[in-house]
Amino acid sequence: MCELCMKHGAGGKWYLNAEHYTEKVVEQYNLRDYLLEQYKNFEQVSVRKVYGFSGVGLGYKLRIPIIGRIIKNTAEKMLHSEKPPKNPLRAEGHIGQVVPLEDAIAIIENCAAEPLIEKNCMCRYMSRGIKEACCINFGVMSEIIEKLPRFIPDKDKFHLTKSEAVKRFTEHNRKGYIGTIWFGPFPYINNLCSCESPECAGIRPRMDFGINSIYKAEYVIQLDQQKCSYCGNCVRQCPFGAISVDRENKTVKIDLEKCFGCGVCRHVCPNDALFLSPRDMIPEVSGQY
Ligand code: SF4
Ligand code: SF4
Ligand code: SF4
Repeated sequence: MCELCMKHGAGGKWYLNAEHYTEKVVEQYNLRDYLLEQYKNFEQVSVRKVYGFSGVGLGYKLRIPIIGRIIKNTAEKMLHSEKPPKNPLRAEGHIGQVVPLEDAIAIIENCAAEPLIEKNCMCRYMSRGIKEACCINFGVMSEIIEKLPRFIPDKDKFHLTKSEAVKRFTEHNRKGYIGTIWFGPFPYINNLCSCESPECAGIRPRMDFGINSIYKAEYVIQLDQQKCSYCGNCVRQCPFGAISVDRENKTVKIDLEKCFGCGVCRHVCPNDALFLSPRDMIPEVSGQY
């Protein structure tokens, strides 16, 4: 289990601990006001400035010996903060994890606070100008977003029942979007996203800059070689470049270190050759989140 599960999972996974979705947490941290302020300024908080740091020349700044380390440490400290959130213009306590379809369904069915809505993904909009409704929000987050028209999809219905939310998430996951769940801010869970890399402002800092902005899933992919027909579908579907196929020599290679455990490769395998195993049961990557 990752450190979030150990500290906040009450014996299970942190994101399946229903405590983190309650109105009690919203009131305790005054999250209605905090989140309204934060999402009015989303572009400043999360995209133009990557977690409060200007994205301009960030790669270069991070390579400067001492300054780079200070920026990285400060960003990680802010994202992983468990102090009561104070500054809505920073992504304080905003840490998440990749989740496969099964766990996302368990979140929606057993934990998510209502109302549920789907909103436009602002990461895609900011980076590609595309409005696509693929973030599912819960509880107070849904109330806030309703007040901010630019997040609202161009269609009549954006309120979802739980079964509609499961259907929408499943569609996105089958397309190859990466399921992610977020504290926003700690200890409140309110966002179940379907992300793409590199647009996602949560995934990009880790992939491009080595900032620990998101945990890999509690799982890692495994292959039943006997069933594989070397078609290569999974190679095209994997958003992290973790699989390669050599058709001539009939071999499939999975780079377990690159695998985030999102499970989307399974959806395109014609032979059911891919399956997820708990990360901690696979010695090569046990404890690596
Ligand atoms: S976290 Fe993912 S789905 Fe949510 S806004 Fe960012 S890219 Fe879009
Ligand atoms: S190989 Fe790993 S990272 Fe790639 S799609 Fe499959 S589960 Fe996700
Ligand atoms: S999609 Fe399935 S059958 Fe095709 S190469 Fe990948 S594991 Fe093998």
